[in-house]
Amino acid sequence: MDVTFFTAWIQEIIRVLSINRDLLTRLDAAIGDADHGTNLDRGFTSVRQALSDTPPGTPGQLLTLVGNTLIRRVGGASGPLYGSLFRQLGKSLGDAPEVSLDDLAAAFATALESVTRLGKAAEGDKTMVDALAPAARTLSSAAREGLKPGEALGRAAAAAAEGAKATIPLQARKGRASYLGPRSVGHEDPGAASAALILSALHP
Ligand code: ADP
Ligand code: MG
Ligand code: MG
Repeated sequence: MDVTFFTAWIQEIIRVLSINRDLLTRLDAAIGDADHGTNLDRGFTSVRQALSDTPPGTPGQLLTLVGNTLIRRVGGASGPLYGSLFRQLGKSLGDAPEVSLDDLAAAFATALESVTRLGKAAEGDKTMVDALAPAARTLSSAAREGLKPGEALGRAAAAAAEGAKATIPLQARKGRASYLGPRSVGHEDPGAASAALILSALHP
């Protein structure tokens, strides 16, 4: 998987998040402040601009640029969290021109750690971690089993989608939704939903 592959991922994220902007904002209206869709759409629109200004030469450079742009442009909790996810992905991949499934799985596990270090959310707290963590686990076990990247990424996306749906009955313990206490139950977490969309965009 090279810089062209990862650029296609980011372009697909931009497309999918823009299509789902209002859905994500509606989810955030129920248990937050109704800005998650617009936050991410603004961030990834800036990412598109940054990529056309300075086309990155390696997967690591690309993902670092995405992370830095999100941190700069997205207000709200999700900006620094997704920013550190992408920045750490970029850092872990270093300056390698080609990335194996093993490399990506290891980088994703480390990137998830940087999200939990920053946000202090554990699985079950009803956040993006509930989608990212099962995806990271699935990617690692798929890499260990020697699956082809396409199959591995498909399984990781499915695990993220399942993790996002599983936030519906949970009570939020982190982020704005936690202020609602038991009233956060019965709604899908917007950040978990966007994380599932971001993973669904990752395919060969
Ligand atoms: P804000 O809540 O500041 O308006 P967003 O609406 O863009 O920011 O993002 C909200 C999402 O961020 C939540 O749905 C949740 O998934 C995620 N989130 C919030 N706080 C945390 C945290 N401490 N750790 C992990 N994810 C978090
Ligand atoms: Mg919000
Ligand atoms: Mg906000």
